[in-house]
Amino acid sequence: MTPVRSPGQLSSRLGLAGLMENAPLGILFTRNREFYEVNHECAQMLGYAPEELLGQPAVMIYPDENVYLALGLEAAPVLAAGKVFHAEVELRRKDGSRFWCRMQARAIDPMQPGRGTLWFLEDVDELHEAEEKLQRALADQQLIFDNVAIGIAFMRGRVILRCNPWLAAMTGHDVADLIGNPARMLFWSEADYQQFVTASAAAFAEGEPAVSELPLRRRNGTIFWASLTSRRVPGAGDDVISTIKDISAQHAAEQALLGIQAQLEARVAERTVELEAAVTQLQQEVFERLQAERRAWEMAHHDGLTGLPNRALLHDRLGQALEQAQRDKKRAAVMFIDLDRFKSINDTLGHAVGDELLQSVAQRLKNVVRAVDTVSRFGGDEFVIVLHEIASPDDAVLVAEKILAVLAPPVCLAGGVIRITPSIGIAVYPDDGMDAVMLMKNADTAMYHAKATGRNNFQFFSRQMNEQASRFFEMEHRLQQAIDSDQLLLHYQPLIDWQRRAVCGMEALVRWNDPEHGLISPAEFIPVAEESGLIIPLGEWVLRTALAQNRQWQQQGWPLVPVSVNLSPRQFRQKDLVESVRRILAETGQPASLLELEITESSLMHDVTETTARLDELAAMGVRVAIDDFGTGYSSLAYLKRFPVHKLKVDQGFVRDLTTDPDDVAIVTTVIGLAGSMELDLLAEGVESEEQLDVLLGLGCHKFQGFYFSRPLPASAVEAIFAPPRLQGIIRP
Ligand code: C2E
Ligand code: MG
Ligand code: MG
Repeated sequence: MTPVRSPGQLSSRLGLAGLMENAPLGILFTRNREFYEVNHECAQMLGYAPEELLGQPAVMIYPDENVYLALGLEAAPVLAAGKVFHAEVELRRKDGSRFWCRMQARAIDPMQPGRGTLWFLEDVDELHEAEEKLQRALADQQLIFDNVAIGIAFMRGRVILRCNPWLAAMTGHDVADLIGNPARMLFWSEADYQQFVTASAAAFAEGEPAVSELPLRRRNGTIFWASLTSRRVPGAGDDVISTIKDISAQHAAEQALLGIQAQLEARVAERTVELEAAVTQLQQEVFERLQAERRAWEMAHHDGLTGLPNRALLHDRLGQALEQAQRDKKRAAVMFIDLDRFKSINDTLGHAVGDELLQSVAQRLKNVVRAVDTVSRFGGDEFVIVLHEIASPDDAVLVAEKILAVLAPPVCLAGGVIRITPSIGIAVYPDDGMDAVMLMKNADTAMYHAKATGRNNFQFFSRQMNEQASRFFEMEHRLQQAIDSDQLLLHYQPLIDWQRRAVCGMEALVRWNDPEHGLISPAEFIPVAEESGLIIPLGEWVLRTALAQNRQWQQQGWPLVPVSVNLSPRQFRQKDLVESVRRILAETGQPASLLELEITESSLMHDVTETTARLDELAAMGVRVAIDDFGTGYSSLAYLKRFPVHKLKVDQGFVRDLTTDPDDVAIVTTVIGLAGSMELDLLAEGVESEEQLDVLLGLGCHKFQGFYFSRPLPASAVEAIFAPPRLQGIIRP
């Protein structure tokens, strides 16, 4: 039988002709190692026409015979077992070119190999190429992964799945030690790790990579700083890839820079402290120089024996007193005092005793007048007192009364006990004269009149005044009554903190509402009270009333501010002062922190040991102490530093002419500097105008009291006290 050679014979017999020709796959049929049937796809794949293949030995499409034989040997048992044989071999096209082909073969009848084999061929060259490319790419990537100079870790569920040798080297581990272990092992502390986890979660939620700088731990336990950049692998749950860079060097450099900066700052701070100390010293020197100058001036203007102002200074002071009285439309008084029978004492007991007596008299006289008044020694046994700015001749009566009283007790001297009495003549400006010469002459005349009327008394130059004088003898008596019958009242003046535009305190100022004479100023009756001892009950009343009033304001919702209460020297020296302050605070239910006591320099310097003890007790309680009228007395800086005082109130005398008098500017500047270096609060009293305010602000003072903001007001004017018109934006209840 002729072998069937025409294409399609077998397939058509098998009913597969259409399928074979249209299959996207090479199909051939071999029998006896020759091509028996070949479809178009297959012939094309091999670069032949189908006819060129039919009947040809199958070996022709293999690169060489060995390949063919080897394939045959491999295929034979599989085919004989009736199974499908799979192979991938290189085939040769007609033009000699080669290609990779994937083959599947099956025997038509495994029992009779002679019946032929059916082969399916697929050109896999392209597939191979793609695979090769992929392999190359993977190899390249591995090369990079293995050799890149940055640590890379691939993590799943916070466990390291893969990492590169650089990371291993950086951390001192082997790659194998890291893989499969929790990422936590790389971090220095649990806190650092948690910070990393939280920061990463936050960044990933925003779709951003997470960048953190953290200390990591090496295998040997040492630490290094690293910068980590982590990204979530898209579409892979919680797979994260992190790159890790050792930034220890950079970090060390930064730390070094910070260290240098800190050193620099410390140096600056040191220099600042040194400078501050130098400034403080300079201020002290200025202050001490001012004081030295003042002492020199005082020597030239004071009497060597008694220390009182001499004639020259008296002349100055009287001139000032008259100018001031004229400007303020007030009165002033000149008192001429002559000691009765001094000449005979001097003659009989000697000059030394006379001198001692004069000193004692001078001391007593000084104690009866206000600080503003002038007590001078005019010569021999003559003294002249100038009373500045008095409201009426009554004030002179008061002083004259006190002079008589204060000189009445006998003086104990080395020479024995001596009684001395004065004759006092008084001339009042402008009633008895418009100028110093006239007033001195008339006071002298009045003094002779006093001598003529039996000595140890006083006389006014004018008859009319003499008559009036008797009406005021009982000033003290009336003051006592005033205290008993509630004629005293308090006015309040706000203390201003200009920086906060707020009221920062309240000074209580006592007034005497006399049914006959109306409101009497404390300047007039405090000295009487002080002299007579009435100041003690009066002072307690002031303290209690001021504290109770402040409490009432607090209950009404007004801002919490401390109330300031003035203490006269006698009050401050009173033995049970601290006890009575404590008791009154308790009675009125006020904390000590809401009380400020104002004392003068003279109170402070009286007895330094006792003063220190008293101030310490007050400070321990929490009561604040201010030095009132600062600058008018003599304060030793050394003591001032030691006393626990909190505030200096610059006397209004320095503020008054601040805009015109450079000396006042110098003094206020020095006081501000002192307060600053001693860390004391500072307030300027008596601010009456915007110009004064401007100068003070320019000098660095920020707290004020004065008519410019508010006069002292009765408690009922509470609105104006807590919100003086000059302040805006004050807190209201
Ligand atoms: P101080 O403690 O220095 O009180 C300030 C005085 O200056 C008050 O006089 C006040 O009215 C006045 N003042 C306030 N601002 C200005 C201003 O801008 N210009 C002028 N020219 N004066 C201003 P006041 O109320 O007549 O009191 C005089 C002194 O009497 C007080 O001086 C204080 O030393 C004493 N004083 C007042 N109340 C008491 C008290 O309750 N107890 C004691 N021991 N002394 C008191
Ligand atoms: Mg005061
Ligand atoms: Mg004052």
